[in-house]
Order: sequence, then C-alpha cells, then structure tokens
Amino acid sequence: MIQKHTLVVGPFQCNCSVLVCAKTKEAIVIDAGDEFDRIKAWVESQGASVKYSVHTHAHLDHIGAVEALKKWRPQTKICLHKADEGLYKNLAMQGQLFGIKYDSPPPIDQFIEHEEVLKFGDHKFSVIHTPGHSPGGVCLRFEGGELAPEPVVFSGDTLFQQSIGRTDLWGADHGALIRSIKDRLLTLDEQTRVYPGHGPATTIAVEARENPFL
Ligand SMILES: [Zn+2]
Ligand SMILES: [Zn+2]
Repeated sequence: MIQKHTLVVGPFQCNCSVLVCAKTKEAIVIDAGDEFDRIKAWVESQGASVKYSVHTHAHLDHIGAVEALKKWRPQTKICLHKADEGLYKNLAMQGQLFGIKYDSPPPIDQFIEHEEVLKFGDHKFSVIHTPGHSPGGVCLRFEGGELAPEPVVFSGDTLFQQSIGRTDLWGADHGALIRSIKDRLLTLDEQTRVYPGHGPATTIAVEARENPFL
C-alpha cells in the first residue's frame, strides 16, 4: 500500500505529493515546489525516508523547495528529465520574473527518461515524457492496484481538469503539448485517475470527452 498526501504549496498553489510505501517507509516527493517545512513535517510524521525528489518539470513552482529538501536529507536523489536541465539551472532567473529570490538549486542526481521505471519500497512507477509546457515535462504513471484500484497518472502542468498547461513560457511548444496529451495521455486506460500539478483531480475519460482544449 502507498500512503499519499498532497500539500498545496506556495503562491502558485502547486500540488506537492508525498508517497510513502506503508511497509518499508521509503518515500518519494513529487514536485517539492515550496513550503519545505510542511513537506518535512509530513515526511517526519510518517517516519519516512525520501528516496527520490521527482519533478514533473523545472518551473520554479515545482522545484522551489528542492534545495532545502536536499540539505535536510542529502541521500535523496533529485530526478528530472534532461531537457529541463537548463530551466532548472536558471531557477534564480525564473524567480526574478516573479520577484522571488532563489539560490542555485543543487545538482540533478538522476535524469529520468521516457518509459523508465523507478522503484521505491515495494512500489514502482513509470515516466512518460510529455514535452510542450516545457521541453522536459514528464508525467508519472502508477499501474492499477498500486496507488488506487485504477491506474493513476501525475500529470504535472501538462494536463489539468478542463485545461492544459500554458505555452507562453521558456521553451514551450503548443503543438508539442497537444501531441503529448493526445498520443501519450489520452491513450492510457480511460479509467486512469489524473492528479494535475495544480487544481483538482480528474480522469482520462472525462478529459478525453470534455476538455475544451483537446
Ligand atoms: Zn509549469
Ligand atoms: Zn506549475
């Protein structure tokens, strides 16, 4: 079993999820974007060790707490798709645009690739590369029975309930985003539960039917 806890963090209200393997207490943090103290408090309350800090992409609202996390638990591996490395390294510059000050983030430990499988505790998930909102955007997929009876995908800022990611920022590409969603998300089992990087959960079936951008 996986214990899932989602915190809505920072001024951009990013959904940061902490997933803990109930048996081994090994955990991953998805999108440690801000408010590190709250993330830390939850991890500590579970007695968990964080194996991976996985980032769906490198916009500031999804990586802002990674430096504090790495300082606190240096064994945590920071995972990001290579194509977002430039954005990641330019966190300070991203912050300037929004009047928020950041130091340079720590080095990325592991570049994650399309269809790569990562494990923590008794569980595993796979990476789906979905460029468009940013070049290295990824979604994270759990098979049915892992996190919920049905499959689950963490969709970052690629797909939202009734919306899609913006494509007016660094390295974004609207055509690529639509292709990523249509070829790599809408082709998933339609029962798949979707946890976006912002806002409420949805399902592939609902978005395939009702999302006005698709
Ligand atoms: Zn974003
Ligand atoms: Zn975001």
